[in-house]
Amino acid sequence: MGFDQASAHERTSTTDTAQSTNSDGQTSSLPRSVDVVVIGAGIVGVSTALFLAQRGLSVLVCEKGRIGGEQSSRNWGWCRKMGRDPIEIPLAIASARLWEGMNAAIEGETGFRKTGIVYLCRNEQEVAKYEAWLEHARRHCIDSRLISSKEIMTRLPGLSGRWPGALFTPSDGRAEPSLATAAMAKAARRLGARIVEHCAVRGLETAGGRVSAVVTERGSVHARSVVLAGGAWSRLFCGNLGIAFPQLKVLGSVARTQPLAGAPIHAVAGSDFAFRQRLDGGYTIAQKNANIAQIVPDSFRLFFRFLPAFRSEGNEIRLRFGRPFLDELKVPKRWRHDDVSPFERERVLNPKPSSKILAEGLRNLTRSFPVFRDATIAEQWGCAIDVTPDAIPVISAVERLPGFFVASGFSGHGFGVGPAAGHLMADLVTGDAPIVDPHPYALSRLDPQLSVTLSTSETARP
Ligand SMILES: Cc1cc2nc3c(=O)[nH]c(=O)nc-3n(C[C@H](O)[C@H](O)[C@H](O)COP(=O)(O)OP(=O)(O)OC[C@H]3O[C@@H](n4cnc5c(N)ncnc54)[C@H](O)[C@@H]3O)c2cc1C
Repeated sequence: MGFDQASAHERTSTTDTAQSTNSDGQTSSLPRSVDVVVIGAGIVGVSTALFLAQRGLSVLVCEKGRIGGEQSSRNWGWCRKMGRDPIEIPLAIASARLWEGMNAAIEGETGFRKTGIVYLCRNEQEVAKYEAWLEHARRHCIDSRLISSKEIMTRLPGLSGRWPGALFTPSDGRAEPSLATAAMAKAARRLGARIVEHCAVRGLETAGGRVSAVVTERGSVHARSVVLAGGAWSRLFCGNLGIAFPQLKVLGSVARTQPLAGAPIHAVAGSDFAFRQRLDGGYTIAQKNANIAQIVPDSFRLFFRFLPAFRSEGNEIRLRFGRPFLDELKVPKRWRHDDVSPFERERVLNPKPSSKILAEGLRNLTRSFPVFRDATIAEQWGCAIDVTPDAIPVISAVERLPGFFVASGFSGHGFGVGPAAGHLMADLVTGDAPIVDPHPYALSRLDPQLSVTLSTSETARP
């Protein structure tokens, strides 16, 4: 892959603007008209913009807060194929290829390194679970394998305790969430994309039965296509359009350490801890399988949709009832284009992390890796993770509203697949051959009443 600047000018685009652009590609005000508006500058929105700009389309990304300010800068940074739901494996493989060439292609630093990932097994049941998953790996020629206790000790010096086996994937790795989205945004701007921060999109306008413009807090912009990559906000945005998007939020808590010598370079997870080395020599650490689900009004509205997931994954979720219920009750579900929207009222979701979960995670970690006793915690943070009922993302056109596309609901795994998700979204918008089969990511699977087309006849291609 290479982002070829020349090819970006081979196609005509429909940008109509009287605005001046600085050297960074950042406009001081909005264009009047573009081919595509992307809502949200997380990794999915930025990657979509990057691949659209590469194809010569004029793109505007509207971000209510900061580039990568929510999930995309707050996650663990794991880029893995292993352990994925079989439906996500093609996307993860395509993304791994993109990550490998990304630094060169964007002439920037995403922090991507192929360091290998290890899932430690506490007992034979866990070994059997990963053995079963290896069937999928073999089918897709992924280099995952089970490793013995002896190899575990060689790969993870300083590990204590008894570990009957581990799942290991040498070709998996990690990137740096604090760098990746910003670096990709810089490259997208070099290719001509406009990325405007502090610019919430309030809603859409239609003409002739299809999307014709977005209405932002700074005015309207005409567009042939609009991509919603709004992370945890996508349900609210869709709701105002009368489109049901079943999505809930769970709270993840993460910490990072100061640089630490003597800990493994592989990213490692046990059943109750996880860590990976950072570019600065520190470690991002968390407790695995320990997220908080606040009970909010949507928990009741979506109760039956999420019940099967809760039954199978409920032991990984801690339910809490408290203030967020009332806070969310106050958020308007409908607003007009001249109202200040909920997106302007909360520029960056910045929930408090659970210090209890983080302290437990560190305790679990030091039991297995005593070297972390010497770690100094530099920072802790929280983040709302957006989840769908089947924990599979939506990357899809919305047939009810031609010209409107959704790429959201990445359910805690969207950083690793972010580049391919953006590529696929760009493919759907332009009608190019899709990088992977898009059908498993259709919105229609979540709401049979919504008919979704994956046909690309109505596209933004100039
Ligand atoms: C603690 C934690 C750990 C994780 N670990 C991993 C991991 O190791 N590996 C992995 O693959 N994934 C991981 N994830 C998941 C991953 O971070 C997300 O799936 C991914 O970042 C989602 O990207 P996104 O672009 O869809 O959403 P986001 O990064 O949340 O971006 C959405 C953006 O849209 C903006 N927005 C919303 N509505 C509007 C509007 N109306 N107008 C303008 N802007 C709007 C928001 O401000 C936001 O910036 C983790 C997530 C968390 C929270």
